Amino acid sequence: MPGGEKVLPAATCPLIKASIGARLDRTCPFFILSDVFIGETTCDGKKKAWEILSKDAETHVMHLPQAKRRRDIESWKEEIRDLLRMAEEKTGNKVTAESLLNSIKLINNKRRALARLYECRKALNVPITGTDALLITQIAFYDDPARFTEMTNSLCDELEEKIKTGKGAGREKAARILLTGTPLAIPNWKMHAITESLDAVIVCEEMCTGVRYFENLVDEGGKTIEDHINAIAERYMKLNCACFTPNEGRIDDIIRLAKEYRADGVIDLSLKFCSLYDIEGGRVEKALKDEGIPVMGLETDGAEQESQRLKTRNEAFIEMVR
Ligand code: SF4
Repeated sequence: MPGGEKVLPAATCPLIKASIGARLDRTCPFFILSDVFIGETTCDGKKKAWEILSKDAETHVMHLPQAKRRRDIESWKEEIRDLLRMAEEKTGNKVTAESLLNSIKLINNKRRALARLYECRKALNVPITGTDALLITQIAFYDDPARFTEMTNSLCDELEEKIKTGKGAGREKAARILLTGTPLAIPNWKMHAITESLDAVIVCEEMCTGVRYFENLVDEGGKTIEDHINAIAERYMKLNCACFTPNEGRIDDIIRLAKEYRADGVIDLSLKFCSLYDIEGGRVEKALKDEGIPVMGLETDGAEQESQRLKTRNEAFIEMVR
């Protein structure tokens, strides 16, 4: 983060500062070793941050659509074609229909493994803490996909066995919390650690580091490169990220997930200076209240000093939902 703070205004979301800092401070091996960075334009902060990053490293920016009209999907496909061209130039490898389909299947299998892990979290005697499940989801962004899928499936074998034999993570009576909002990238485990240090368990994250990452598979039925590009574009347009306007689907998702994961309450967590999620928060919270689902909005800047404030707010909320 310090390197990011040197080149970005103080009022920038901590996720962006941490990403830029990981490169400029040379703190993360992935950020040191990468030949090219792929940025995207979720928000204004990211758009401008990639301009700064591009002075230090080669950066390819994918321009995300802000709506889901047919013309937006067409321009998104063009971005995917550009990305494939860039990957071919950089690696010297030709993307073929077969290689693209193999990659689609590889990543779909990772999504299936994560979906299986999250399915285990629906159990009443939930067999894994939210903190451990979050770490696994975060690792999914970095690890070799085939190895990740194999290891996660093998963990799921154990978790499913635990559910059958009634051996949970000792959290049967704990309040079940669904977390929604901005992503929690490594090493941001604070919210989970604080919540689960109380009498509560986080059972699901409606976040990019959560169900948004694995729900909806890319269709595997295509034959040509264009079929596969269409399928990839369509899959990402099913995401209900706050970068879209309108984004009513996200509220439907949260209500659906709260029911599926039997949540006693929802915490709407927003990283400081993320206006996208902060502004959506008001409608999310109203919709949940209308459904009779207890909800609390919280803002975090990732700093250690705020831990006591988060703990106090969490304690009061958990007491209320139990
Ligand atoms: S959390 Fe919000 S402000 Fe931060 S990078 Fe994501 S969309 Fe942008």
